[in-house]
Amino acid sequence: MVIEAPYYHQTHQESEVFLQTFQNRMPLLLKGPTGSGKSRFVEYMAHTTGQKLITISCHEETSSTDLIGRFIIKGAETIWIDGPLTTAVREGAILYLDEVAEARPDVIVAIHSLTDHRRELFIDKLGETVKAHKNFMLIASFNPGYQRGFKELKPSTRQRFVALSFGYPTAKIETEILVNETGVEQDIAKKLVAIGGKIRNLTELGLTETVSTRLLVDAAKLIQSGLPKRLACHVAIVEPLSDDTQTIESMKDLVDLMI
Ligand code: ADP
Repeated sequence: MVIEAPYYHQTHQESEVFLQTFQNRMPLLLKGPTGSGKSRFVEYMAHTTGQKLITISCHEETSSTDLIGRFIIKGAETIWIDGPLTTAVREGAILYLDEVAEARPDVIVAIHSLTDHRRELFIDKLGETVKAHKNFMLIASFNPGYQRGFKELKPSTRQRFVALSFGYPTAKIETEILVNETGVEQDIAKKLVAIGGKIRNLTELGLTETVSTRLLVDAAKLIQSGLPKRLACHVAIVEPLSDDTQTIESMKDLVDLMI
């Protein structure tokens, strides 16, 4: 069975950077706001390189134990179960730590020796050091905290990675993404992209996060499945961005003028 490649539109030579980083056995950090294509890019590159991909969505409770592994009691026995990081290190998979800055600090400590020339993982509970398989690759994503509410990554951690920035694609590319991803008409896709661009420029709205490609894709999907265009934009673009009545109203007015 041939598995189709996930759809990904390159925006800034990121495939080349990925391939060279992979060949040099370096870890990669993807920086950018939510919904900017980071995860899709990793899925696409894993497919392109034929690598197994293990994704961990980090949150405040994610600890090194969750990643490395733990002993569990099975009947009368205590057995060790490898966590996803250990599995990836042993088998040579791509480990993608999505939103790594959200995880507990011991996660950063655990991955340190994997991000330098040692490429090894120390499993303290087993007293064992595992050398990474030659194809093991560590990728982390991180949402730079320009705004309040996001955690930062320490410079000493960041400098262990090759880093790629993800932002908003050009209008032409973003229109193509909407058409390819949802089948929406070119003309509607263009309007959605224009709405996205306009709201992104309205810094006075004071949004914590602004319109991502994901939100535009969501609006296009709803339009494609029959929801009236303005309503689709209200629920997929405007409402997810703010809870402030006035901000919502201004964005809705703008949308209604543009589509
Ligand atoms: P992130 O991981 O940055 O939060 P995702 O990779 O989940 O974002 O992207 C959200 C959605 O946006 C994807 O499911 C896809 O529909 C769309 N998308 C964003 N950028 C691209 C791109 N360059 N090529 C194809 N689809 C994209």
